[in-house]
Amino acid sequence: MTKTVALVVAAGRGTRMSGDVPKQYRMLAGQSVLRRTLSSFASHPKIDRVIPVIHRDDTPDFAAASAGLAVEPPVYGGDTRQASVLNGLEHLARSPAPARVLIHDGARPFVTVKMIDYILEALSDADAVIPVLDVHDTLKRSDAGIVSDTVDRSGLVRAQTPQGFGFPGILEAHRELAGKALTDDAAVAEAHGMTVTTVPGLEENIKITRDEDLERASFWLQASNETRVGSGFDVHRFEPGASVRLGGIDIPHEQGLAGHSDADVALHALTDALLGALGDGDIGSHFPPSDPQWRGADSALFLQHAHNMLVGCGGTLTHADLTIICEAPKIGPHRDAIRTRIADILGISSERISVKATTTEGLGFTGRSEGIAAQATVTISVSTR
Ligand code: MG
Repeated sequence: MTKTVALVVAAGRGTRMSGDVPKQYRMLAGQSVLRRTLSSFASHPKIDRVIPVIHRDDTPDFAAASAGLAVEPPVYGGDTRQASVLNGLEHLARSPAPARVLIHDGARPFVTVKMIDYILEALSDADAVIPVLDVHDTLKRSDAGIVSDTVDRSGLVRAQTPQGFGFPGILEAHRELAGKALTDDAAVAEAHGMTVTTVPGLEENIKITRDEDLERASFWLQASNETRVGSGFDVHRFEPGASVRLGGIDIPHEQGLAGHSDADVALHALTDALLGALGDGDIGSHFPPSDPQWRGADSALFLQHAHNMLVGCGGTLTHADLTIICEAPKIGPHRDAIRTRIADILGISSERISVKATTTEGLGFTGRSEGIAAQATVTISVSTR
């Protein structure tokens, strides 16, 4: 049974921002805001399904933002945020219903693994849980630039998302209160008589609403990040066949490559380089060759998994440099296709990928055309928060 679903609401038009692209699709340090948000949930071990709710007009942008991530096809939103959430909940109600749902703003890309954990933990004995922050500034009521009142801030908190709910309760609440213009899901829950429990929110879990939020977010990402380098190396030997899978593409050759998966030596080296930079084991520990589910597997999955781990902890792949070592097939004619394919798999710009090839001048096992070797170096930027 599906226990926990994340509903990521990204159907807004972003009218408070400049430019033609809605705020959730704006780029933030090389990735769209929404991709960062989706990755946080898609890579979380306690989230079983991720359902994005988007605007119909954003379908192409969404395809780019979600490429390679473990998220489901999107549900289309309504005219208001509340209507969009209801569409998402109704979609869930048509499948075997989950026990609980986290509803999150697509424009809050800095949600952390820990924060999701806090909310799920609190939700085990509450109907509704929201993250909140204290109010430190003095609050005024102002009318046309003139202060009319100082508002008592005691007891006031600022609500963030993800907001967690038991699924049947929040579905019923949203159905009952459809069209009532409530600004968050907790307000819908409260109006329905549910008890809403709070947990501490995170100051950096901002909602990207205005241009300056994007600037602030980009500054934070840079200021709190450190650079790490990882290296990977792999070898696969030739076996009878008619093509080799290299860098995610099939290249015609008089032999194939032997291996448990698709034997893509280039993607294996890249995956290991990423895992190395993350300090989290190697391709064999994440995808054991003894596990039959990886037999013949598309190695793009391995690379995506490692990249999702990186993105899930708020990191970015700055650059990947791949060297393929063999006498044949000739890599040169396929270099651009490999570069483009790797960029597609990772959902990043191909300018951040380098593909090189060399022979070993007839020396050693690659020189004797017994197999292909690949080595990779990646540079990542990860948060030190
Ligand atoms: Mg391998």
